[in-house]
Amino acid sequence: MSRPAIAHIRLDAFRHNYRVAKQMHGGKSLAVIKANAYGHGAVQCAQAIANEADGFAVACLEEALQLREAGIKTPILLLEGFFEAAELPETVANDLWIVVHAEWQIAFLLAAKLAKPVQVWLKMDSGMHRVGFSPVDYAQAFMRLAGHINVEKIVLMSHFANADNLSSEHTLQQISVFQKTIIGLGILDILETGAAEISLANSAAILGWPQAKASWSRPGIMLYGADPLMAATSKLRAVMQLTSKIISIRHVKKGESIGYGSIFTAARDTVVGVVACGYADGYPRSASNGAPAAVDGVMTRLIGRISMDMLFVELTDIPQTKIGSHVELWGDQVAANDVARAAGTIAYELFCNVKRVQFKYSDYK
Ligand SMILES: *Cc1c(COP(=O)(O)O)cnc(C)c1O
Repeated sequence: MSRPAIAHIRLDAFRHNYRVAKQMHGGKSLAVIKANAYGHGAVQCAQAIANEADGFAVACLEEALQLREAGIKTPILLLEGFFEAAELPETVANDLWIVVHAEWQIAFLLAAKLAKPVQVWLKMDSGMHRVGFSPVDYAQAFMRLAGHINVEKIVLMSHFANADNLSSEHTLQQISVFQKTIIGLGILDILETGAAEISLANSAAILGWPQAKASWSRPGIMLYGADPLMAATSKLRAVMQLTSKIISIRHVKKGESIGYGSIFTAARDTVVGVVACGYADGYPRSASNGAPAAVDGVMTRLIGRISMDMLFVELTDIPQTKIGSHVELWGDQVAANDVARAAGTIAYELFCNVKRVQFKYSDYK
């Protein structure tokens, strides 16, 4: 028998979440499947919704080519555009859309000899201050691109820094900066007809900021079933279920400690289960001592330090546990958000880190 650590990827849940995202926001929706679909498998996720997705978004040309090679014909946006001018011919040949966020990209794009024009998503820095044109420079960037022979059309976009924080004013400020700036573009006629395409909302904005509605949404994390607002009730379904099995059961006396660093000492006689999953599988080592887990459907918690291939769970109050008992590390009973909180991180990082385990795909249509 092989090692029992498994990431079950439920593509029907992924499809369901895409539909929820699209319906909540309205308009068209780019499914963000960068970073190998947040660790879930980009090709499998893309194929699961290829017939209905309005488009996909990835981080770079390599990620897009992987999808094209798998036969995905749906539009694909490169979220940081090209990193060097040499990528442009392949970008055009594969019908990819590009984000343009910096002056150097405009210079390369306008100087290039392209086989056909490319669709540009022109990014405004409305307050996140990571990439994008400042409101002051945005109109000029737009004017230089608009109507150029290498530019097919321009979608106006921006990205939020704090949409997951419903008590922050920052998102509304970003929306207001964005709106004021695009009014200044001198394309009011197009804006009024609604023909100008605009994209603001990530998952958190889809879920929490209806003011960010526009022609295109860009859901990422919600497609994988983790609610970035941490809402208790959610229409989303977990896509990844990370499971393993109990491979050893120890009876530890009060006062004895377990594992590296002896960070857990039994306050009572304690039954300890050893689970075949560790930080080399991407389980966060920082979640040692306290993260939730479910053993044969019963909630319990991790104890002791997580090691490379194994971790410990508390079994004292689950006496029916056996060697081979099923352990859910996150998925349906154990929210990835709760494990992330215990580890001082976010579900995004947990998902992206999963490796070495077997990936098993299922889909119920
Ligand atoms: C990653 C990304 C998204 C998706 O964000 P989520 O928080 O996962 O929904 C949307 N837009 C841009 C520009 C991104 O880089």
